[in-house]
Amino acid sequence: MINSTINTLLIANRGEIACRIIKTCKRLNIRTIAVYATPDIHALHVKEADVAYCIGSEKLQDSYLNIEKIITIAKKEQVDAIHPGYGFLSENALFSERCKAENIIFIGPSAQSIRAMAVKDEAKKIMEAAKVPTVPGKLDVQSVAEITEACQNIGFPVILKAACGGGGKGMRIVFDSKEIEEAARQAKQESQNAFGNDSLFVEKYLINARHIEVQIFRDSHGNCVHLFERDCSNQRRHQKVIEETPAIHLSQALKEQMYQSAIQAAHAIDYTGAGTIEFLVSQDHHFYFMEMNTRLQVEHPVTEMTTGLDLVEWQIKVAQGEALPLQQKNIKQIGHAIEARIYSEDPEQHFLPQTGKIKHLFYKDSQNVRLDSGIQRGDSIGIYFDPLLCKLIAWGENRDKAIHLLADALDHFKIIGIKNNISFLQSLLLSHAFAEGLDVQHLERNLSQYLCAAPTLSKEVLAAACLVFILNRNTADNTLWDKKNAFRINLKAQEMLLLEYQSQSIAIQITHTQTSLELSCPLFESIFEISGTVDDNILSYQFENSWRSISYFIENAQLSLIHQGHLYQLNDLAHIDHSTKTEQHDGNIIISPMPGMITKIWKKIGDSVNKGEKLLALEAMKMEHTVAAPKSGKIKNIHFNMGDQVIEGSELIEYDNI
Ligand code: ADP
Repeated sequence: MINSTINTLLIANRGEIACRIIKTCKRLNIRTIAVYATPDIHALHVKEADVAYCIGSEKLQDSYLNIEKIITIAKKEQVDAIHPGYGFLSENALFSERCKAENIIFIGPSAQSIRAMAVKDEAKKIMEAAKVPTVPGKLDVQSVAEITEACQNIGFPVILKAACGGGGKGMRIVFDSKEIEEAARQAKQESQNAFGNDSLFVEKYLINARHIEVQIFRDSHGNCVHLFERDCSNQRRHQKVIEETPAIHLSQALKEQMYQSAIQAAHAIDYTGAGTIEFLVSQDHHFYFMEMNTRLQVEHPVTEMTTGLDLVEWQIKVAQGEALPLQQKNIKQIGHAIEARIYSEDPEQHFLPQTGKIKHLFYKDSQNVRLDSGIQRGDSIGIYFDPLLCKLIAWGENRDKAIHLLADALDHFKIIGIKNNISFLQSLLLSHAFAEGLDVQHLERNLSQYLCAAPTLSKEVLAAACLVFILNRNTADNTLWDKKNAFRINLKAQEMLLLEYQSQSIAIQITHTQTSLELSCPLFESIFEISGTVDDNILSYQFENSWRSISYFIENAQLSLIHQGHLYQLNDLAHIDHSTKTEQHDGNIIISPMPGMITKIWKKIGDSVNKGEKLLALEAMKMEHTVAAPKSGKIKNIHFNMGDQVIEGSELIEYDNI
């Protein structure tokens, strides 16, 4: 049994979770060693750690997944422990074993426990033996005939799952026997590609179920507690979007049963450390074990905010061989916490991951709101890693307060330079459906409802934009009263501004009075007036007899400003550097929407295609994206082969109109 103090800890991870772990280490006076891949040289986790080492290229096998390189640094720095975060090597039994062999504490469970839970169908068998309820199904079915027989016994709908699956990959829902063959082929192929194994099992597909998980902690002395549940039913493509605790609409009795089952599961595999038992809860309020994650979860902050505990600190204590810091009766849950995951993705383009440079970050610090972030201004977001940028978490005395606090935090949090899902999260969080409580299929069924068109330009926003552009022409003059250049003695100076909003040009006639701007624009009937000052990216202005202020960011005649929670982006067309604007492409050439690797090509030269038909698939940021035909035509040329890397804007396919 380990019984030693951790003084130096290596973090085998990146991004927000690496920064999160460093935070606790700083508080506990633990020296931190970061490792990084070359694209992360300027990353926040590299800056925040006491020491950082570059261990390889952007290829994960060369860096964040390279056990040898990580162990070499760990030995060089004589670290006492390695924290793997989540993802990467966190559920890698070999890594846990290797750390042990090198006398380094692995902050996580033993290789044996990881193995027990790594393969989903094996995990199900262990849970069944431990009397933990599991989803009815049939394990180890490989041929179409076996799967068909299993489906008939279980009853449709069913879900085919990859035994080694994870991250929503290798799963297919089947509604009738005609779909089995193709679904099995796809699930096997996806699983083989992602996990190098194509074993499947079948489960009853629970309609309108909820994903409820229980956080447990078990120490090496056999003590085990639960830290309540988290509701992670807000999912898109089986991936969590918003998580919260406590779960609503669940009786205390049901929750208690789930806590006890989770504890039983942990005992059954002699688990140590932080673990999460994921359950599905059916419409008729039965719960079933789905899988166990043998690591810290992305959504752990909601548990921390409602229990007041630091889960990373607990992980470190348990790894040092200490007993759990608290007994069950002393662990209390207070209030409600909700987390929103902010991704670099474009909801308008089927959530395609986005790359680019973070030009500016708007963030307002507020009480009971926590930002777990691994990004900073100036970072380049590439294709190599997960598109999760950061998480906003809010705590309230009750659910309503938590929702409103988180919505307010999202209103003030904006990332300039990379498309992201913030407005999608805002509309989801404030929806009637979210208030009522959602099941895991809700988002897929209703996705379009949460997609937000760009906000309409109001008089006020247009006036504020004009004022910012004018005041920023010469940064030395930051109030309208100081501005000399537009004034003429005894005359009101006039000028024309030509702005662009949502690809639309807007001409505004501006008259400078002694203290204000008078604006006239064909979009609005009457003349309107604004005055104000700018200071440190804040515009304070007077409009329609009241004073207000808004945050803005301006660069190269491109302005971003936040008004009532919406982000508006306007260009000053007379001053913009046109090379920074997106290029327009010929309609007969299909351009790569992102950098990535070509993983599938469905068509060949000479094929006729209909609008919407799949042409090829690109893999980037661990996700696969289909490029479909924007119109009907005939394939004239395909410029790449399977396995080729393409950059954003590469000409992929050329075709002729029919
Ligand atoms: P992964 O490990 O790939 O994330 P999980 O087994 O954790 O996969 O399942 C992810 C999600 O898929 C669940 O949260 C749920 O939304 C859905 N799901 C999985 N199994 C079922 C099932 N039997 N019935 C309904 N939905 C399911």
